[in-house]
Amino acid sequence: MSKVVSYAAPSAKEPLGPYKFERREVGPKDIQIEILFCGVCHSDLHTARNEWQNSVYPVVPGHEIVGRVISVGSEITTFKAGDLAGVGCLVDSCLTCPDCGEGLEQYCDHGVYTYNSPDKHTGKMTYGGYSNQIVVDEHFVLHIPENLDLAAVAPLLCAGITTYSPLRHWKIGKGSKVGIVGLGGLGHMGVKLAHAMGAYVVLFTTSPDKVADATRLGADEVVISKNPDEMHKHLKSFDFILNTVAAAHNLDVFTELLKRDGTMCLNGVPEHAHPSPNIGNLIFKRRQIAGSLIGGIKETQEMLDFCAEHNITSDIEIIAIKDINEAYERMLNGDVKYRFVIDMATLQE
Ligand code: NAP
Ligand code: ZN
Repeated sequence: MSKVVSYAAPSAKEPLGPYKFERREVGPKDIQIEILFCGVCHSDLHTARNEWQNSVYPVVPGHEIVGRVISVGSEITTFKAGDLAGVGCLVDSCLTCPDCGEGLEQYCDHGVYTYNSPDKHTGKMTYGGYSNQIVVDEHFVLHIPENLDLAAVAPLLCAGITTYSPLRHWKIGKGSKVGIVGLGGLGHMGVKLAHAMGAYVVLFTTSPDKVADATRLGADEVVISKNPDEMHKHLKSFDFILNTVAAAHNLDVFTELLKRDGTMCLNGVPEHAHPSPNIGNLIFKRRQIAGSLIGGIKETQEMLDFCAEHNITSDIEIIAIKDINEAYERMLNGDVKYRFVIDMATLQE
């Protein structure tokens, strides 16, 4: 067992603070990683504050993890001490069901998330990346490209793969007109990735001050979604819309922008339900509303390699871990460009 220092939420109503616990022994198929940086996902905030009503305290959030391998189990041949390594939202799954067989571990009924998930090894809950080290089964550890800025790679492990996977699934490429809704952590990665895939990208935002950034990040057009005239210009024109908004909102203003047979995929998991969509908007044009969960391990590696090839990382603001509670408030206020990343060197032993 190794002693770990971390930051945890003690309850839904209290700020995160220092917390010590132990990680399991490094088993034959395990990799032990010193965490250098961890991205701050809106899911961390939803979970720390029990907005999904499933939090078991203390919660140690964090699933955008990058660092260096400290030690490897006796059967490991793919990593060695000193290698860069990454861990995203998943640390376990059954590896035998049809979903796992197709490399879609995120849809396995026995998947284990990186935090706030029953841990098969300890019988407790999993504790995430707001900590100085982690022990993970090698199947769930990613190789990190050496040519990218390490801190700015961290958000690829969740925000990157969560937007990459649906863009690939719905076969986005040259000739596609794609909408990305919300310019936050996920949304800004969606813009960069869809642009790199060759799509015509329209960013929908509620924040007029983000327009210039959206263009710089790769959007061909930017639409203020609260402006009905601007929205109207895009009626029935999109092949695909990726909606990353973290709060309940009216979906109809986006479904009516889809072409016949177009799809809007939901990434956001808001605390409160969206108002029921207008079914007429769907049936008269055979439009679809879909959902998508992160991405599989093989696809996450593919996404990292795609980002290395296209020189894509996240736009980040590095913070000390003591500032995490303030960062959550700023994220709620849309005051992050576009992902906070915790420098784990600021975690005191
Ligand atoms: P984020 O950085 O806070 O970004 C969310 C964006 O949504 C904001 O930047 C804002 O964009 C927009 N927004 C926020 N409140 C809004 C409101 N009331 N009305 C309209 N737009 C609003 O969050 P994130 O980390 O990208 O995560 C987004 C959501 O995806 C969260 O619910 C998270 O839990 C979920 N998530 C899902 C998966 C998955 O696998 N499906 C994975 C990771 C995260 P503008 O300022 O541009 O309007
Ligand atoms: Zn996440």
